[in-house]
Amino acid sequence: NFEQSAMLKRLPEQFFAKLAARAQDYKQQGYDIINLGQGNPDLPTPDHIIKELQDAAEDPVNHKYAPFRGFPYFKKAAADYYKREFGVTLDPESEISVLFGGKAGLIELSQCLLNPGDTVLLPDPGYPDYMSGVAMADAEPYAMPLQHKNNFLPDYNTIPDAVLDKAKLMILNYPNNPTASVASKQFYDETVKLAKEHNICVAQDFAYGELAYDNSKPQSFLQSEGAKDIGVEIYTLSKTYNMAGWRVGFAAGNPSVIEALNKLQDHMFVSLFGAVQSAAAKALTDDQTSVRELVNTYTERRDRFMMAIHNIGWDADTPSGSFFAWLPVPANYTSEEFSNKLLEEAHVVVAPGNGFGDYGEGYVRVGLLESAERLEEAAERIARLGIF
Ligand code: PLP
Repeated sequence: NFEQSAMLKRLPEQFFAKLAARAQDYKQQGYDIINLGQGNPDLPTPDHIIKELQDAAEDPVNHKYAPFRGFPYFKKAAADYYKREFGVTLDPESEISVLFGGKAGLIELSQCLLNPGDTVLLPDPGYPDYMSGVAMADAEPYAMPLQHKNNFLPDYNTIPDAVLDKAKLMILNYPNNPTASVASKQFYDETVKLAKEHNICVAQDFAYGELAYDNSKPQSFLQSEGAKDIGVEIYTLSKTYNMAGWRVGFAAGNPSVIEALNKLQDHMFVSLFGAVQSAAAKALTDDQTSVRELVNTYTERRDRFMMAIHNIGWDADTPSGSFFAWLPVPANYTSEEFSNKLLEEAHVVVAPGNGFGDYGEGYVRVGLLESAERLEEAAERIARLGIF
């Protein structure tokens, strides 16, 4: 047996791996599990994207290593996407870095920018792998509470100047996982100002970049003036195009950060499978009807689930963005006790809020990741527990 490195020993068991294993365990025992735990989209990748993958897989150009730093046509497709969707101009070569999905990019960013002991501002609650990247770099997390009273945005006024002056990196994520809140341009403008004053790099995780409800298109961080001077946005095709298994995305923004990501990837990967780059370019630039359909599907799921939840007497906010609902747990339960009860007695898997940080305690996260009928059934099963 070989001993794990000190870096690996700093990491806990991956939160969603643990959750997925528990759900699988119940499934194997023969229970009909409604799995609303891990944020794994249940819908298929649109046909035209799959067709492009198939065609590109037959092209011998994709049987070799793709060029270091990715194919120029993919980076151009990413830049064209930002121009079309957000009016943001990006230079494909110096302001885009091809990524193996958002998760890899965010972990790489910690490796690229942090030294042991550096301070990192993290949202709490937040996507658990932000903490993993920080732990790998042996840096110090500083929690920025996301609270209901502030629409789940960090309150920068509560962060001491001494912390801001030490901070090297701040991670944001809107539309937000897990709180389902969205951010305004004004919030990003304030973020750019703060980051410039204290020389902090901002990484805005745009995993749910197309997923906001009620005809409100999410704002890109890069739409704020000066954003490119101090940060990057991390974009993934996982959710918008139902390509979570494909592992493809890109970082966009500050050239020095893009260069750092590219340099690390030159040493680790060369680049993504060319056929995946070809299909991803197609997804970004071709007809976007599938994206509108996706938003409609999640809107219907959200509306029917929230109606069912409210009908059983569970008082919770209606999600503004992402494909999650962030629901307060009833009195006398911790978030872990309550999610265990839902799993054991209703066979509904949800993610306990404490897995997203201390400020997640008191909530559970529900993914709108089965059909509207199954989501209503989940609410019915929960009603039968007689808690509400
Ligand atoms: N960031 C957030 C906030 C997410 O919720 C997820 C996936 O659940 C990711 C990043 C990871 O995305 P990817 O599949 O691109 O690695």
